[in-house]
This record gives sequence, structure tokens and C-alpha cells, in this order.
Amino acid sequence: MQAFRILPLFLAVVTAIPSSLHAETLVFEGAHVFDGERNLGIRDVVIRDGRIVQVNAAAGAALEANARRIDYRGKYLVPGLVSDHAHVGNTSGTGHGDRFYTRDNVIRDLRQFQAYGITTVTALGMNAPSFYALRDEINRAPALGAQLKGAGPGIGAPAGAPPADVMGLSHDPVARPADAASARAAVRDQAKAGVDLIKLWVDDIGGKFPMMSPEVYRAAIDEAHEHNLKVAAHIHDLAPATDLVASGLDVIAHGVRDNPIDPALVAAMFTAGTWYIPTVNIDEANYLYAEHPQWLQQRFLRNALPQAVRAQWSDQAWRDAQLAGPGIAAARKAVATNLDNLRTLRSAGIRIGFGTDAGALPQRVIGFAEHRELELMTQAGFTPAQALTIATRDAAKLLGLKDRGRIAPGLRADLLVLEADPTLDILNTRRIAAVWQDGQHVAGGIDDYRPR
Ligand SMILES: [Zn+2]
Repeated sequence: MQAFRILPLFLAVVTAIPSSLHAETLVFEGAHVFDGERNLGIRDVVIRDGRIVQVNAAAGAALEANARRIDYRGKYLVPGLVSDHAHVGNTSGTGHGDRFYTRDNVIRDLRQFQAYGITTVTALGMNAPSFYALRDEINRAPALGAQLKGAGPGIGAPAGAPPADVMGLSHDPVARPADAASARAAVRDQAKAGVDLIKLWVDDIGGKFPMMSPEVYRAAIDEAHEHNLKVAAHIHDLAPATDLVASGLDVIAHGVRDNPIDPALVAAMFTAGTWYIPTVNIDEANYLYAEHPQWLQQRFLRNALPQAVRAQWSDQAWRDAQLAGPGIAAARKAVATNLDNLRTLRSAGIRIGFGTDAGALPQRVIGFAEHRELELMTQAGFTPAQALTIATRDAAKLLGLKDRGRIAPGLRADLLVLEADPTLDILNTRRIAAVWQDGQHVAGGIDDYRPR
């Protein structure tokens, strides 16, 4: 009997210790809150231990006097953006390749994502073996950069996509199984190493490379599901996308860009709940900046670019050669088809994820690409609020992350503070006043951000 009387007292003492040591209470006062689903109007958001604990009208008034109050009246609060498809540690200046996969470069990229308001980033393949340790280190320290999730090295085709030469993979980390048994072994290895999802490349890149065989991807998908892992596939064309969905694929990681998506595929995706990440910006990035040299004067783009890239894109001879390049007409057509297919899937209520392939190549500009993608989604018919829901709530749901993507009690305090209403004009997502991650102030506006 005596023991039962003592126990509650003991617990009370123990639980009091952490709160007195580091549980500062933060109150964001008076911002317009878009919670990832809808505009809530003006709210106080209360944060403790890196988590949102209250989202109320005038909640702050009832709190203890030593709560730290931040006046966000006139500002707009949205959840930190979540990218389902990006890459890290793969570029430096105008170059790309696995020789850049260093701790410094991974952190450099994640700091840039974070400064641009993307607080969770999925590195969808081509990660070096150091990925796992880096992820754990970075995810414990918000000041190092955006939260990192990823597919480890990913699984490609022997001598095929991702083409090692083209991608600069001198110590190619990608698993390239030739048969079903090796595909299952590759998935088991990656599951054991701790990937967040499995990435496949199923693309012959216009007939130039061997395609991953159906036997291999079906075995990989089946094995991944045995390990409770989702599978995301790089595709470009309708035919492999269709067979992958029939084979149980969870996530189409790029838009279909060769043909219109037909009603049969739409129906199959709807029934299976397949996710679709359009990455419209990926092809556009090959000509967009060469076409708009005046954008280099805008800080929002300028500050995202390494000096060498800025110099290259400022050179008219380079821009002319870029726009006259052999792939540009196809890239424009791919963007038009991608947008049309996104309109089709939007009307059908297919689950859409958020990603850009930023970081894979220098023109896939980390941070800028995500804000451009939001704009492109509105061109496909989504309202600004719907595009934001995709880039927050839905992108987190794709990853199976229940602790982020919305502004609600119990969730991580990963928040983007904006100067103007993004639900009125999607370009207002670029007017960043501050970024908070895990309840810590990790970035001010982009005017203060400079790439290393
Ligand atoms: Zn990619």
C-alpha cells in the first residue's frame, strides 16, 4: 500500500525535471494560419519541446508570463514544405557526380532546402554509403539543415538507368540486379541498412539504355512490401508506368511525359491508391533559365545559385547554345504532356505527391525548384491552397510521416513564416520571413541567404 502512495509523487518529480531544464514555451502570436488543409484565420500557435501544443485564437493570453512571445501579426504561417523527390550531395558549381557526396555538401544542400522553407527532404537514390550515418546526425540537429529521408543508393538496371557515366557515378553506389533473386537480395540489403523507401529506375532513356526487366521490378516491389517499405519508381513513359502500377508500385516518382495517361491507368491508380509525383520542373529546367536571364537579378533565384552557375547562366553564348541544344524541343513537349497528365489526374482525384528532382543536376535548383513546382501545379489547375496541401500534408502522408505536414497539436514545429498570403497567390510562398524547424529558428528571409 505504501509503495502505491509513493509512486505518483516520484513520477511528478521526474517529469518536472525536463520541463524546468529545456522546455521553453514559444508563442507565435496573431499570424494567419494555413494548417495544411485550410485557412484557420488568425491564431496563436504554442510550441513546446519542438512540438506544436496549441493552435487557438488568443491562446497565448492564458500562458505563463515567461513564455517567449513572437509577434507574427500580419504574417502567414504554413507547415514546412516536404519534398518526396530530391537529391543531395550530387552537385558542386556547374559539376555533378558522386565525388561531391561529402558530409559538407550534403549539409550545404540541406541548409539550402531549409532556407527555402523545405524542412523535410527525400533523397531519392544515388546516396553514398555515408547516407545512413549522415541522416541520423542531421535529423538530431535542426541547425544542420532540413530533415533527411531517403532511398539509400536505389536500384537500377545493369548498364542502364541511372546511367553511371551520365550521372558521374565513378563509385556507382546503385544496386543493379540482373534477375529476381538479386533484386530481392538488393531490397533486403537496403531494408537492413535502414532506407525509408525503395527507389527503382525503370526507363530506357529514349531507347539508349537497357530497361529494368518486369521480372526484376516485380520481385523488388514484392520484397519491399515484405519489409513494409514503399517503392517509388523513376519513369518517363506511359508503358512502364502502366505495368508498374499493375505490379503494385506505390509511387510514380516522375510525371508520364511521352503520352497522355489513359482512363485505364487512371482507374488502376485510383483503385490501388498509387501516388504520383509530377516533377514538372525537371524538363523545364533545361531551358527556363536560359530563356529568362533577367530572373538572375531576382534574389530568390540568384541566392540559390553557386557563383559558377550564376556566371555560366549570365553568359549569352552559353544561353544561346543551351536553347539550340538537341533536347530542348523534346523538353518543351515533355513539360506540356506532363502538365496535361497532371490535369487529368487532378480531375480524377489521384493522390499527388511533391517533388522536383532538385539537387540531381545544377539546373535543378535546390529550393527555387520547389517554389517553381508549386507555381506549375497551379498551372495544372490546382488552387494555391491545394498546391500547398500537396506540398505539406500529402507529401508527408506519401512518406508515411504522421508527425508533420500540418499545423496541429502534437506535430513537429516545422513552420514557414511568410510576408503575404500564399493561398491568394502561390508566388507568395517565395516571400519567406522565417523558417522554424523542430521549434528552432533556423533561417530568416532569402535576402539573408547566400550559397556557400
Ligand atoms: Zn531523382
